[in-house]
Amino acid sequence: MKKIHFLGECMVELRSTQPNTMQQSFAGDVYNSSVYLKRCFPDIQSGLITSIGEDSLSTKMLGVFSNEKIITDFVFRHPTKVAGMYLIETDEFGERSFIYWRSDAAARKVVEFLDDDVLEQLAESDMFFVSGISLAVLEPTTRSSFWDKVSFLKNRGVKIVFDPNYRPRLWVNEDEAREQFDQAFAFADITLPGVEDLSDLYQIQNSQELVEFCKAKNISEVVVKDGPASVVSYDGQQTTSHQITPVEHVVDTTSAGDAFNGAYLGARLSGYDIEKAVRYAALAAGIVIQHRGAIAPKMAFDTAFKHGVDAL
Ligand code: ADP
Repeated sequence: MKKIHFLGECMVELRSTQPNTMQQSFAGDVYNSSVYLKRCFPDIQSGLITSIGEDSLSTKMLGVFSNEKIITDFVFRHPTKVAGMYLIETDEFGERSFIYWRSDAAARKVVEFLDDDVLEQLAESDMFFVSGISLAVLEPTTRSSFWDKVSFLKNRGVKIVFDPNYRPRLWVNEDEAREQFDQAFAFADITLPGVEDLSDLYQIQNSQELVEFCKAKNISEVVVKDGPASVVSYDGQQTTSHQITPVEHVVDTTSAGDAFNGAYLGARLSGYDIEKAVRYAALAAGIVIQHRGAIAPKMAFDTAFKHGVDAL
């Protein structure tokens, strides 16, 4: 059975529904991708590498991972820290704003748990996924050790996948982010960037420039997301532009890119070529944006995905 591990942070999500009422769920880019990969491709093993607390909310989070059939062997429990949290508020004009409590989250400590034994087990995976958000939340003092571990996995034949997912407020400044992204691009076998993610850091304005940027870094599998505009891929030889069918009634684009990543990688691990994998990925993302929140209701998603696959 093919296996992928996603490293990063899952957070407690709070959403104001009515005055004095909040709905609580769990979300985070790598978690979202691991969920959609498993939902779309149940035969692939999809695992998370993160650290949570020993508190009751963290225990609930772990239960949700298991419900989604995510491998939790590398979900470590930190003795003193708790999971990060954020609140989504929507104003009278429908504009969303976010408040985060994540600067001291357990997930920042995850590298401390990656000992030789864990790395040996991770070396059995086919892919190791890291995002720009994962890199931003790692305790800065653990960064060099983190890259040594990534290098170990790559040398053992694990494909390194990187989605830059740039969030300026998580970094001290652009130089810090660029330095970490440069490292990630140097190790990446596959990258799944959005044009927006690299415009500030590398002055990249469109998909074509982004593909050229990745080619210069010798990355042989590149899939550039650009919202409903297009998807452009590069397979080490050819650049291909893929048509995206725009969704008419977009409800919430949260986690569109995450769903895309999960379905794309699931398809690739299932042996599909890039063109077919992009079709599966765009289908999954197109369903997710018709639902509110990062994680669409399972039954609605599964049904729509199955119908969509039949029509592909
Ligand atoms: P991110 O969430 O990383 O910002 P994008 O906005 O680029 O990602 O969207 C990711 C993918 O979601 C796109 O490549 C596309 O497949 C799909 N998508 C996004 N917006 C739309 C839309 N309006 N109609 C159809 N598909 C969309």
